[in-house]
Amino acid sequence: LTSKLPDVGTSIFSVMSQLAAECGAINLAQGFPDYDPPQALTDALARHARTPGHHQYAPMPGLPRLREAISQKTAAVYGVAAPNPDTEITITSGATEALYAVLAAVVRPGDEVLVLEPAYDLYGPAIRLQGGIPVYVPLRVPEFSPDWDLVKAALSPRTRLIMLNTPHNPSGAVLTAQDLATLAALLANTATLVLSDEVYEHMVFDGQQHASALQLPELAERSFVLSSFGKTYHATGWKVGYCIAPPLLTAEVRRVHQFLTFAVSTPAQHALADVLADAEQYQTLPDFYQHKRDLFAGLLQGSRFELLPAPGSYFQLARYDQISAEADVDFARRLTREFGVAVIPVSAFYHDGLDQGLIRFCFAKRDETLALAAERLRAV
Ligand code: PMP
Ligand code: GLN
Repeated sequence: LTSKLPDVGTSIFSVMSQLAAECGAINLAQGFPDYDPPQALTDALARHARTPGHHQYAPMPGLPRLREAISQKTAAVYGVAAPNPDTEITITSGATEALYAVLAAVVRPGDEVLVLEPAYDLYGPAIRLQGGIPVYVPLRVPEFSPDWDLVKAALSPRTRLIMLNTPHNPSGAVLTAQDLATLAALLANTATLVLSDEVYEHMVFDGQQHASALQLPELAERSFVLSSFGKTYHATGWKVGYCIAPPLLTAEVRRVHQFLTFAVSTPAQHALADVLADAEQYQTLPDFYQHKRDLFAGLLQGSRFELLPAPGSYFQLARYDQISAEADVDFARRLTREFGVAVIPVSAFYHDGLDQGLIRFCFAKRDETLALAAERLRAV
């Protein structure tokens, strides 16, 4: 068999989590919390697990009551007209499935898809599996903001889609409303669509507000906006996410979704529908994570790691050039093996493995975990 992705190895998240387990290292690599979802959610899941009739296929686009709850929440949070649950919201198996379904639905062989790099590791391979051509546009280092002139230069009549990710994995950078307005102006009079990966929408710090593609009508009309309950409810293992898009775009996503997974876990959807009306979880998330970011940064003072600004997401980038001149992959492995803290080398987010001398920490961990990890990192 000739591989369709001969250059693609096992995802760095699996690789580093496995190495962490082998070495008994603290896993600040793969992005997931070491605490559980709110009890209201796990109680709801237990309740629905015991409810007769909640164990068979959910409707293909998602449970109506969950789509309704998402619609109301979206309107309340972003001050936009409530998306129509019947025609504009689709529940997917995590944002991962939504990403794949959108790409499969819109990308044709030879289409170009703009990807701002560094980028989540799925984007490039998923585009290529559709026969699409990823066109990589570098984000400015170290702030990881887009250079819109470069984006403009990269746009062509063959650009089917541009992929955004805000707050950004791995850097935590956030797009501003001005960024989105600039992009909307660039795309006016083109047929280019937008995929806006907003899974970290509720992790924006220092009093800033998340700017969603949904808030700008000129952008929303051509956008697929993705989110994930895994991030917002400390439930990455539940794999429930969703896609909001105008009716014609949603119809195309559903054409794929129906043959990709068809539907998503019924009891999990019921449980999420039960808790979504309570705004507390997502309203308190910025403070919850800002505390962890600041705690971790404070604990690393006096270490030889140089932390970059981290305005959003649950990731913190760091330079290690005062410690070593090793390639980031080698340094990440040695940190795991010799110092007992696993991290992600940022080169994994570049299609050509560009090494910027940066590693990524995930700070979605209990304060005690962060303290123990920082103690080890101060000894590096
Ligand atoms: N997009 C980004 C930027 C992510 O970081 C993640 C989480 N790893 C996903 C998508 C996938 O989300 P999910 O776990 O809901 O599939
Ligand atoms: N999004 C998570 C991260 O960036 C990992 C998800 C995965 O393991 N596929 O760490």
